[in-house]
Amino acid sequence: AAKEAGRSTWRCFEPSMQKQVEKRFELEGELRKALEAEQFVLYLQPKTNRDGHVYGTESLVRWQHPEKGLIPPDAFIPLAEDTGLILPLGEWVLKETLKLMPTHPQLCFAVNISPRQFRNPDFVNRVKTLLEETGADPNKLTLEVTEGLLITDFKQSSKRMAALQQLGISFSIDDFGTGYSSLSYLKKLPINELKIDRSFIKDLPEDTSDALLVETMMAVAQHLDLAVVAEGVETQAQRDFLYSLDCNLHQGYFYGKPEPAAQLLARLKD
Ligand code: C2E
Ligand code: MG
Ligand code: MG
Ligand code: MG
Repeated sequence: AAKEAGRSTWRCFEPSMQKQVEKRFELEGELRKALEAEQFVLYLQPKTNRDGHVYGTESLVRWQHPEKGLIPPDAFIPLAEDTGLILPLGEWVLKETLKLMPTHPQLCFAVNISPRQFRNPDFVNRVKTLLEETGADPNKLTLEVTEGLLITDFKQSSKRMAALQQLGISFSIDDFGTGYSSLSYLKKLPINELKIDRSFIKDLPEDTSDALLVETMMAVAQHLDLAVVAEGVETQAQRDFLYSLDCNLHQGYFYGKPEPAAQLLARLKD
């Protein structure tokens, strides 16, 4: 019976897979056009310190599709990564962010860099050029990367990170704790910050094993002299619990959702 069920599941799966392939193909074409038509929108989400003061932002891209409306990054970043379209898209996000920096010199700006973008041999030069073109202060720029990227290509990554760090740029490990890797890379690479993944924050303070994990991550970070940002802080109870662990840098809906860059920056001015 199990075998039969398996077979019938498979039969049902085929046409839907065909459809998925078609949808993907269609999306890829639209993504190409979107790049030419500049249908992307830069959103920023605030990062706050213990005073509740916004000290920085993270750039989060959205796709303003003419018919489908605003599309979140999870729906197109993986495809952009697979097709290489992440290179022009990532460059666009970086450039749009750097353009904002000279007029907001007090803020730190963080940009997500995908593995393919970071591995592009031209990446360091592109960053240098964009810094020159925009006049952005590299000391206010953080690049968010995931640990998987650093582990699978350790030698290259560390070289590239060192070159960028020399320019004044900082590095943050995004989605920290989800990568199941050894922690030894943390002390071998020029990393400044860990961002604790939202999955560890969302059930705080009730979930005692998550609480213990966050406490452990704080201890690791303190030991290695790394800053820590908690992602996805949504409630006052989460905030207070994190404060009790001396985890003071927060990002999440409790403080503000991502919003169009100009909108957030205008609000921060008053
Ligand atoms: P991420 O870098 O880990 O960004 C954090 C995500 O968590 C964002 O989702 C943000 O909107 C969401 N978030 C923040 N606070 C809360 C909260 O309190 N509750 C909940 N439920 N969610 C919260 P978003 O904007 O949909 O982006 C998803 C992912 O897409 C990002 O995860 C990042 O990996 C990727 N991404 C976004 N923009 C870019 C980009 O310009 N380049 C690259 N390579 N990836 C990007
Ligand atoms: Mg991020
Ligand atoms: Mg993250
Ligand atoms: Mg995340």
